[in-house]
Amino acid sequence: MISEAELKELSFPDAPKMVTTVPGPRVAALMEESAKYEAFTRGGGGFPVILSEGMGATAKDPDGNLYIDMAAGVAVNAVGRGHPKVLEAIQRQCCQIMHTTDITNPKRIALAKRVSEIMPEGLRGDCHTSFFQAGSDAVETAIKFSRKHTGRSQILAFQGAYHGVWCGTTALTTGYNYRHGWGPLIAGVQHLPYAYCYRCPFNMTYPNCDVQCGKYVDYVLNTPYTAADDVAAVVIESQQGEGGYVAPPPEFFQIIKAACKKYGCLYVADEVQSGAGRTGKMWCIEHAGVKPDMLTWGKGMGGDIPMAGLTYKAEIEKSLPEGSQPSTFAGNALASEVCMTNINLITDPEMDLLGRATQLGEEVRGRFTDAMSTVKCIGDVRGRGLMVGVEVVADRKTKEPLAPEKCGQVAFRLLNKGVLMTPCGRYGNVFRFMPPLTVPRDYSNKAIDITLDILKDY
Ligand code: PMP
Repeated sequence: MISEAELKELSFPDAPKMVTTVPGPRVAALMEESAKYEAFTRGGGGFPVILSEGMGATAKDPDGNLYIDMAAGVAVNAVGRGHPKVLEAIQRQCCQIMHTTDITNPKRIALAKRVSEIMPEGLRGDCHTSFFQAGSDAVETAIKFSRKHTGRSQILAFQGAYHGVWCGTTALTTGYNYRHGWGPLIAGVQHLPYAYCYRCPFNMTYPNCDVQCGKYVDYVLNTPYTAADDVAAVVIESQQGEGGYVAPPPEFFQIIKAACKKYGCLYVADEVQSGAGRTGKMWCIEHAGVKPDMLTWGKGMGGDIPMAGLTYKAEIEKSLPEGSQPSTFAGNALASEVCMTNINLITDPEMDLLGRATQLGEEVRGRFTDAMSTVKCIGDVRGRGLMVGVEVVADRKTKEPLAPEKCGQVAFRLLNKGVLMTPCGRYGNVFRFMPPLTVPRDYSNKAIDITLDILKDY
């Protein structure tokens, strides 16, 4: 496994280091400029952070404040920012060719082959890949391809889901801000309960619940008069991301997969956030041993250069008309070479970043769980690998979420102490630890110390 000393060299030294309060004068001026010219609909619109330099699991703002990055650009920088091998790949490829349009290029062909080799069972060695720039593109296309392949139109998705915000994916995503007032959304989408055990919609407790939420999906799909009579696909995150880092028990996915098989619809695993090694396996669905029919990926696969894809069973290819889903920038040779480099780094047996994600993730969860005896607002600690969610509450007994203003205050105080962290969850009260898989252990521990020190005030 890669040593802590080697990992330290990939990040800026001595983080965190704050030289101004946040926002400092340069960030404040840039925020004003952004508000004048950029769309406020951008993610994190009001949060006063702007990054101008990055290295590994650390980043600096234009005022010179140095942060420990527990967000990794929302699970994007799996191998850290500006990894030397990635920089080498960029230099190598940019002098050859970068843009080729959707007429393909050798780097993209090699990548498609490599993606096929690293897919979970069911897709591995028997799939095709369609390339994009964003996760939303991939899920959008999964909706289209599953409709075309099955000749059906409905999609089942889950409460708490985030699959993107384009015209199709918005209908699958459940957050109010993303949906309300943007309609009409595409018809035929039904949302079912996700296995959110901490706030079980059936008010039951795992494992005594017998995974009722999974069985409910089976009920909807395979029972008359549920109106699920034309379902093309079940689209499901293998661990919910924006919905609160919710990690269901494996049986949930296994029951749903069996229900899909019985019904005859496709199982689409959305691994845009949970994939690329984040949970200690290349794909989160591998924890459940479920064989998906399609898998969407993005974020950590591209890292510093945007790249996403939809990988689907080879047999589906027969239903798709040639040239029916072109995309101008798809699988740019530069992005393909970088994606290949990221995959090679994540799967490198000597570095063992997957093993490290498992190990460090356990340590992170252990530290937060241990802290529950003194930090009263921690309600739940969950997740797999380095996809850890800490849900904070005003009252542990009633599970009333910590008020949004207070959660905002925590995030702002974290920022001022040099920790980059983006909350998520249905109530905005889940602090997520999703650092680069290359985060040095002492940086991770420092970030936890700072977080606990702040959380003890709530
Ligand atoms: N699916 C999941 C599970 C995601 O977490 C996201 C992004 N948060 C998307 C899809 C959309 O990806 P993008 O923002 O790259 O379009």
